[in-house]
Amino acid sequence: MNIIKQKAISLIENAWAKSGTVLSVRAWNPATFFEVDVHFSNMDMSAWTRVQYIKVKVANGVYRDYTPAGWDADIRTCTLYINALQDSPGSKWVKSLQQGDEITYVGVSNTMHRPVDRGEMMVLGDMSSIGHYLALQQLAGDKLLSGAISIGKESHCNEFLEYFKWKVQPVLQEDSGGFNSLLEWTKNENLADSDVYLSGHIPTCVLLRKELKRRKDQPNGIRAQGFWK
Ligand SMILES: Cc1cc2nc3c(=O)[nH]c(=O)nc-3n(C[C@H](O)[C@H](O)[C@H](O)COP(=O)(O)OP(=O)(O)OC[C@H]3O[C@@H](n4cnc5c(N)ncnc54)[C@H](O)[C@@H]3O)c2cc1C
Repeated sequence: MNIIKQKAISLIENAWAKSGTVLSVRAWNPATFFEVDVHFSNMDMSAWTRVQYIKVKVANGVYRDYTPAGWDADIRTCTLYINALQDSPGSKWVKSLQQGDEITYVGVSNTMHRPVDRGEMMVLGDMSSIGHYLALQQLAGDKLLSGAISIGKESHCNEFLEYFKWKVQPVLQEDSGGFNSLLEWTKNENLADSDVYLSGHIPTCVLLRKELKRRKDQPNGIRAQGFWK
């Protein structure tokens, strides 16, 4: 990183950075997916109406976006669900986390995704979307989301079913974003009175949107929030 960029980042950090404390870390088996419970004493979660994301410092001058889910506004805790399959700064960071560590983040921002009043809500994505859709479910309250999450490992599919008693189902992933298995899953679904939410692998979101737009039972809306490519 050049010196000017480094100085700019440290100025932003000094002005905006806040911190949270890791309460616990749970790894799925194999350990390429993590649930991290965090206490964010400065984060006011009480007025959230959309799914949020935070920019988390994962290395010197390196930030990655993650989604606070399962929040308790009274005690200012939440869980981050982090995919760490790839060899990357985010993966290395989450694998190193331990109870009591401090997490640095800058800002909490809105995504485009919020619950709708009309019809059904159907969600499609990969493992990076799990926290995002758990957050959407929390905002939707009694209105149950349906949908599918593409997951590369069978053992993770089993853990998903065990941990989340949810209408959203795991499907075994065949390609990098899960396009084929997610599309296959939608074929047995009636979308006519649904809003479909897409997130995760950007090319998969683009292709799924194209395919769903072609259907006779077109959904009320298709809302995409791409994460990575
Ligand atoms: C609004 C928003 C919210 C997000 N929330 C979450 C979240 O809650 N949990 C979460 O896990 N991710 C989340 N993401 C995605 C995450 O920020 C990116 O995937 C990020 O690039 C991961 O950083 P990294 O350092 O692991 O990989 P990078 O260094 O960015 O990428 C390294 C390589 O890994 C590939 N890659 C990146 N992400 C994935 C992935 N998920 N699966 C497979 N390959 C990948 C890239 O294509 C690249 O080739 C969110 C993104 C956005 C925009």
